[in-house]
Amino acid sequence: MLTLKFGGTSMANASRILSSADIIISRAKEDRLSVVVSAVAGVSNSLQAAIDAYTTGNTSTDYVCDIKKIHKEICLDLESKVKGFDSDKVMAVLEPNFVELEKLLAGCLSFGECPDTVYCRIMGMGELLSSPIMENVLRAKGQSILLLDSRKFIFTAGSQKEGEADYGRCADACLPYRDGEANGQTRILLFPGFVCSWTGSGGHKNAVMGLLGRNGSDFSAAILGASLGVKRVEFWTDVDGVFTADPRVVKDAIVVDDMTYEEAMELSFFGSKVLHPKTLAPLQAKGIEAWSLNSHNPLARGTRIGKGPFESRRKSSICGISCLKKVAMISVGGTGMRGRTGTASRIFNAVSSANASILLITQSSSEYTISFCVRDSEAEAVSEAVSKEFELEIREKIIDEIEVRHGCAIVSVVGDGMISNRGVASKFLNALSSQDINILAIAQGSSERCISCVIGGDCGDTAVRVVHRFFFNTAQSIEVFAFGAGTIGGTMIDQIYQQHDKLLQQNIDVKVLAITTIDGMNLSEDGLDLSNWRNDMKKPMYKFGPENVDDIIKFVKEKKPLNPVFVDCTASYDLPDRYLDILNAGMSIATPNKRANSKNIEFYHELRRTANKMHRRFLYETNVGAGLPIIDTLQNLYKSGDKLVSFNGIMSGSLSYIFGKLDEGVPFSKAVLEAKSLRYTEPDPRDDLNGMDVARKALIIARESGFDIELDDITMYKVFPESFDSSGSVEEFLEKLPQVDDYFAQKIESLKKQGKVLRMGASIKDGKVSVGMMEVGQDDPLYGVRGGENAFVFYTERYQPIPLTVRGYGAGAGVTAAGVFGDILRTVSFNPER
Ligand code: ADP
Ligand code: MG
Repeated sequence: MLTLKFGGTSMANASRILSSADIIISRAKEDRLSVVVSAVAGVSNSLQAAIDAYTTGNTSTDYVCDIKKIHKEICLDLESKVKGFDSDKVMAVLEPNFVELEKLLAGCLSFGECPDTVYCRIMGMGELLSSPIMENVLRAKGQSILLLDSRKFIFTAGSQKEGEADYGRCADACLPYRDGEANGQTRILLFPGFVCSWTGSGGHKNAVMGLLGRNGSDFSAAILGASLGVKRVEFWTDVDGVFTADPRVVKDAIVVDDMTYEEAMELSFFGSKVLHPKTLAPLQAKGIEAWSLNSHNPLARGTRIGKGPFESRRKSSICGISCLKKVAMISVGGTGMRGRTGTASRIFNAVSSANASILLITQSSSEYTISFCVRDSEAEAVSEAVSKEFELEIREKIIDEIEVRHGCAIVSVVGDGMISNRGVASKFLNALSSQDINILAIAQGSSERCISCVIGGDCGDTAVRVVHRFFFNTAQSIEVFAFGAGTIGGTMIDQIYQQHDKLLQQNIDVKVLAITTIDGMNLSEDGLDLSNWRNDMKKPMYKFGPENVDDIIKFVKEKKPLNPVFVDCTASYDLPDRYLDILNAGMSIATPNKRANSKNIEFYHELRRTANKMHRRFLYETNVGAGLPIIDTLQNLYKSGDKLVSFNGIMSGSLSYIFGKLDEGVPFSKAVLEAKSLRYTEPDPRDDLNGMDVARKALIIARESGFDIELDDITMYKVFPESFDSSGSVEEFLEKLPQVDDYFAQKIESLKKQGKVLRMGASIKDGKVSVGMMEVGQDDPLYGVRGGENAFVFYTERYQPIPLTVRGYGAGAGVTAAGVFGDILRTVSFNPER
C-alpha cells in the first residue's frame, strides 16, 4: 500500500482536484492506496478568520455563506467536467456540515470566546467538506473507494489542537485495513486530513474531536502511513519538491533530490513550510520513504526523504535554508547566574508550565546569560512564568529583569554534511554580515546538522537570500534603479542588456528594476525586460515626478533587494539632495553627476559617512575624465599613503580642441566655431570657456586628494581680455568673438618663440586650485594634448620627477556609460577572475 497526501493547493479548484484524481487513479493501478486530502485552499484561513471575527462580535462577513459558495462552485464545475458527478447530491452530503458550522459560530458570537473543543470542530470542517468531493469524483470515474472517518483511526493525547499521536491505538484501529480484510474489493481508502480524536480529556471512551496542528494533514498522512504499514508516503503539493529555500523568497532556489529524515525534520522545525514538523518521526521509525511531489507537474522527479546517505548529496554539505518568523527571544541574565546549577532546568520547567516550547537556546560561556526563543504569541506567558520562577533572585537583584525581544526571526542552515565540512558557520556568518544583518544569538544543534542565527524579523527574507547565494553559489545580484536614461543613461542600459548573459556566466546577475525619465517610471521586482525598453517607456507605469525617488525608496525598503544601486544619470541640481535618503534606504549610488561632490564640504563628508554607516558604496568614477581611471587611481594613491604635490590637467574636450587648434595658427573665433559644430562644446560655448565645469572637476580631484576646499576657494583666471564684452545672446557673442583673435594670435606668437603652447585647464599646488590658461613647455606632458583629448598629470611624493599621467578621451556616451557600468559592478563583494 501507498499513502498519498494532497495539500490545499492540490484541492484548490475543480481542475486541480481532477489532476489530483488522475494521479490517484494511476497510482491505484499499481498499489492499494490510502489517500489523505486537505481542505480546499483558503478554506482553513476563512474558518480561522470566522472564529476571530465572531468571538469579537464582528458579524459583518457571512463566512459560512462564502465557504458554501466556494464548494458549490467547485461542485458545479466538476459536474460539467466529470460524467456522473452530481453536484446537488454532493452538496446535500455537505449540507449538515454547513448547518453545524452556523451553530458553532453562533456559539462563538454569544459566548465571545471559542473553547478548544469548538475550535477543533470548526477548524476541522474544511477537510470534512473537501473529502466527500474527492470521494465522488473518484467514484464517478469508476474507482472503488471508501471514505473513512480519520477520527476513528487517529488518536491523540497532549494538546487538543496539536496533539501527539498514540501510535499503538492508531495501529490497532488501522489493522483491519492494513491486511485488507476490511477493504473488500476497495483499492482506495480516502481520509480527511488534519482531524483526529483527542483522548486527552477523559480517556479513550470520551474521545472528542481534536486536530493535528497547522499543516496537520501532512502528519495525518504520516500517522496513517505508519499505521497501515505502507511502503511509501507521497506528499503532493504545488512545487517540484523540497527546495534549498522557500522558492517564493529565493527565485533561484533549487530542488534537492534527496535528503535525510533528520535534515527534513530540522528544516521543517525551523520554519520551512515543506512538511509539518512532526511528520517525519513516525516514518523514520518505520523506515518509510517520504516523497515530496508536484501535482501540477507529476512528471518531475520530486524529493526523496529517507535514511541516507545519498549519492546525490556527496558534494553539497548543506541541503537547505529556512526561516522561522514571529519569534521572541527571551534573556535571563545577571551575576547570580554564574556557577549556579539547575538554572536551565528551571527555565525549561517555567516554559513548559506556560504551555510553550523552546525553539532554540544559547548560553554565553561566562554563564552570565541564557537566551532562548519561543513563538511570539507565547512570549508574554513565558516571560511571566520565568519571572515568577526567578522572583526571589530578581528581587534580590542577582538576576536582572527578564528581557523579551519580540519580532525576531531564526534563520537556519541545515545539512548532514556539516559534520565533515569545516567553514559552514563562518560562511553563514559572513553572508549575514555582508548584508549588515545584526546577529542576536547563534546556536548549533549538538547533531552538527543545523546552525541557527536569531536576527531581527524584518531581515528574515534578506538573510535567506544572501545565505542561499553564499552556499549555493548562485549569482551575486545587482539591482539597478536607473534615474535618467538620456545619452549616457540610455547607453548604459543598452550595455547592461548586452552584457547580461556574459556576466551571469561569471555569477553576476545585473537586473534593471527601474528606469525613470521625464516620461515617467517603469518598475519591476523581477527586473524589467530590456529588449525594447525605450518603447516601453512610452507607456510608463508611473507618472514622472519628484515622488519617483520616494517610490523607489519605498520599494527598496519593502522588497529588500540584496544589492540595490541607484544610478543618477541626470544632470539635475536637486537630485543629489536626495542622496542621503537614498543611501539611508540601503542603496548604493553610482553617478556621473558632479553636483553632489561639488556641493559644500560638509555634505561631501556626510555622503561618505552615510554610505559607510549603511555598508553601501558611493561611486562616481565618471565625475572626472569620464571613463578614464582617475578617481579610483587617486583614492588608491591616497589610501596607500602617497600625497599629491601638484596637479595639472586638461579636463575638457572642448577646451582641449580649441587651444590645440591655436597651435596650428587657427584664429580663436574659428576654433570655437569648429568645436561647436563638432558638438564638442555646450550649446553656449561660454559654459566651457568660463571654466566652471573644469573647476568642479578640479575641486573633486583636490577633495579626493585630501584637501577640504570649497568651490569658492578656487581662483578663476579669465580667458578673455578685460576689454572684451562677452555678454549677450549666443549669436551676438559669436559675432563679436573675432575681436579677440588678435589678442590670442599675439600670445601664441610670443609663446612660440619660447617653445611653448597655450593650454586651458586646472592646476593644484599646495592645496590651492586655480583654473585658467597655462603656458606649457615642450617637456610638459600637456604640451601635446589637443584635439579633444584629456590629460591628468599628478606629481606625488612617489611619482616624481616623472609624474603619473593619464590621457585619453574624457567624454562621450560610450566610455562614460561604461564607466558608470564599471561603478555598478564594483558593488558586488566578490568579482571573480575571468
Ligand atoms: P500544501 O497545501 O500542498 O501542503 P503548502 O502551502 O503547505 O502546500 O506548502 C507548499 C509551499 O511551501 C510551496 O508552495 C512553497 O512556496 C512553500 N515552501 C516553503 N519552503 C519551501 C521549501 N524549502 N521547499 C519547497 N517549498 C517550500
Ligand atoms: Mg502543507
